[in-house]
Amino acid sequence: MAPIERIIAILRKAYPRSRTALRHEGPLQILVATILSAQCTDERVNRITPALFRKYPTAAHFARARRAALEREIRPTGFFRNKARHIIGAARAIVDRFGGEVPDRMEDLLSLPGVARKTANIVLSSGFGKAEGIAVDTHVRRVSQRLGLSGHEDPEKIERDLLAIVPRRDWLDFNYMLVNHGRAVCRARNPRCADCPLRRLCPSAPRFMGGR
Ligand code: SF4
Repeated sequence: MAPIERIIAILRKAYPRSRTALRHEGPLQILVATILSAQCTDERVNRITPALFRKYPTAAHFARARRAALEREIRPTGFFRNKARHIIGAARAIVDRFGGEVPDRMEDLLSLPGVARKTANIVLSSGFGKAEGIAVDTHVRRVSQRLGLSGHEDPEKIERDLLAIVPRRDWLDFNYMLVNHGRAVCRARNPRCADCPLRRLCPSAPRFMGGR
């Protein structure tokens, strides 16, 4: 088995329910929740989205939202002015150009205001069950680098490296597995290498813990 396949097999066992922690129903909610999750914890986003999604059940509702009201409602997630602008802008584009339905193609998602590749990948995977890439956030970047899967800093280059080695059938889950692993074990500060099931495959693990 190739090292990447062993890594995936180990991660699957460790994180059998590798799904986004952002609560959502459908593509619109995961799009909004993902925009809100920038520089914010999923828990904090989950605290405000139930009321938000009740008030704005469709893209048309978000498109008509009053900016000041939306800013107030999403304020706990930080960077609320930018996020409100992106949510309203994306919702208007969805209404104007896509008949009110979140599009399910990468290029269409990337044409929405405030939607970069990471967000588009999450919407495609969590909203539509489609894998056109691997979303690279701070956890995926750190864990990929430590595991020696990419030497790049730029998320798009890291994604390119990952897409070249991760089998396509695993693209959907790979982001979630690395995010879960990054939160639980391979933390930014003080990674728990001694408890890590990947330590024998990991070039960053201290040698006395079994690293290569
Ligand atoms: S061995 Fe350490 S550095 Fe490597 S993946 Fe595990 S926690 Fe991260």
